[in-house]
Amino acid sequence: MALYVQKYGGTSVGTIERIQAVAEKVKKFRDQGHEIVVTVSAMSGETNRLIALASEMQDVPSPREMDVLLSTGEQVTIALMSMALENLGLKVKSYTGSQVRILTDNVHMKARIEDIDVAKIRADLDDGSVVVVAGFQGADKDGNITTLGRGGSDTTGVALAAALKADECQIYTDVDGVYTTDPRVVEGAQRLEEITFEEMLEMASLGSKILQIRSVEFAGKYKVPLRVLSSFEEGPGTLITIEDDENVEKPVISGIAFNRDEAKLTVMGVPDIPGVASKILGPISEANIEVDMILQNIAEDQTTDFTFTVHRNDFDKAHQILTRTSQLLKAREVKGDNKIAKVSIVGVGMRSHAGVATKMFDALADENINIQMISTSEIKVSVVMAEKYLELAVRSLHSAFELGRNDSISE
Ligand code: ASP
Ligand code: MG
Repeated sequence: MALYVQKYGGTSVGTIERIQAVAEKVKKFRDQGHEIVVTVSAMSGETNRLIALASEMQDVPSPREMDVLLSTGEQVTIALMSMALENLGLKVKSYTGSQVRILTDNVHMKARIEDIDVAKIRADLDDGSVVVVAGFQGADKDGNITTLGRGGSDTTGVALAAALKADECQIYTDVDGVYTTDPRVVEGAQRLEEITFEEMLEMASLGSKILQIRSVEFAGKYKVPLRVLSSFEEGPGTLITIEDDENVEKPVISGIAFNRDEAKLTVMGVPDIPGVASKILGPISEANIEVDMILQNIAEDQTTDFTFTVHRNDFDKAHQILTRTSQLLKAREVKGDNKIAKVSIVGVGMRSHAGVATKMFDALADENINIQMISTSEIKVSVVMAEKYLELAVRSLHSAFELGRNDSISE
């Protein structure tokens, strides 16, 4: 008998029929004797609908009232879910975040969970009930309703699992797991049985939009086994777990992430003197523009070229700022390119294998793909290239590292 926290996302509870289907699923687990805490999102589209209502009322609604409004989406779902479970003859109890009490800080619309009082939930479970908790919300110490940021129900699920010391936090969604890369780009992309928290963080921040990143960090911190699986099909999904140092032969690369929304800016001919990097990037970060990769060339004739990448949406703004800075610094010129993409190979196996980057560069060279920038971390190598090569690059790397269904030579 295990204790599972199961989180069902917006699409999984998007209609009455789907809520009933989730209830059937929960009943199966109950019938096997497991204790179940369910946490749910708002029905799909509901949070957006509420945001639209608010913006009809006010240009800049107060964050406190936004939270009062947005938290209702999940409140609807917990009630309907509890009714569906009752219809199946199960004992059930629903709670909003503030009823539980999920204590958060007071930063409305992106609050962080500080503590969860599990006493009531524990008592209900002992009493044989399924407990249904509204995702995405809590209350601050003064009782003001707060929400956790878009996608925050994932974090509620993980936090409940950590507080209850659950055996597993299961995130049910509309995909059946985490894949080696986007199956829309590579047909042979495979579902991973397991991925480590660190890898998942690298994959997530690089564009796999399966889980709220915060929930993965949270799960890693509290060592909550986290499983992503489909609410529509049976299957084991993907287990996100800590790196085990048993000598199991792990693949060197677990997946390939990519990001099309990149843009690159270069200031040519800046004087190579102390403080230049901060003079260039200071105004960029003051404008709240996030910088990803940074590259500075070796100086010739006392000047150097300085390149960095930003999100494509920030390109125009960054270009303007940089043009001003370059005049102040008496640089030669500013160049920009907003048709670039980033491709990354990710894997904890890299730590113990040499030559991974070389293999990546070889595969790209074979396809005549020019690499414009490179950055590495302990478990990741990223390259920037012209956007038009993105698909080709992902496909060739996927097969070079034998990640596909038909790539492996064993058996
Ligand atoms: N309903 C919230 C949202 O749409 C929270 C969630 O679904 O996780 O962002
Ligand atoms: Mg979600």
